[in-house]
Amino acid sequence: MSMRREDGRPGEFFSWSEMQGTRTGIDNVAPEEARENLRRLCYEILDPVRRIVGPIRVNSGYRSLAVNTKVGGSRTSAHMKGCAADIVPMASDWTPDRLAQLIAAGDYPFDQLILYESGFVHVGQSRTPRRQLLYSPRSGGYQRGLSGFLPPIV
Ligand SMILES: [Zn+2]
Repeated sequence: MSMRREDGRPGEFFSWSEMQGTRTGIDNVAPEEARENLRRLCYEILDPVRRIVGPIRVNSGYRSLAVNTKVGGSRTSAHMKGCAADIVPMASDWTPDRLAQLIAAGDYPFDQLILYESGFVHVGQSRTPRRQLLYSPRSGGYQRGLSGFLPPIV
C-alpha cells in the first residue's frame, strides 16, 4: 500500500525539506524507496504523535551514505533507508523523556526507540518492528532494556 499523499508531502505535519534536511552541506535527496519509507514513518508514527505533542523538530531524517558517514551514524543506520527520524518536542510541557515514554506506551510500530541523553529521540522502523527500547547516555553507547529508561506509566 502506497503512503503517497494528495498534497505531495511526506506527512500531514512534515515536509520533504525537514525529512531530508542536513547541516553538512552534502547533497541529501532521498531515492523513491526511501521516500516511501519516510511517508510510512510519518503516517504510522510521526503524524499521530505530532497530533498529541504539538510541534516537533526533526534533527535528522533521511541520510545519504555521505551524510551518514559525515555525522558519524551507524554503518547500518535506518536513516539511510528513510526509516528513521531524530526528533525533539518543541512544546514546553513535552521533554524528550516524556515523548519517548508516550511512544513506548502506544502501539506504534517502531523497531528501535532510542532516548538520547543529549536531548532527542530516535524513532526507527523496519519490516519487522521489534519495539526495542534503548537509552544512550551522553558519553555514547547504548544500554539495552535499562529499567530506569522509561518511568512507570501512571
Ligand atoms: Zn537516529
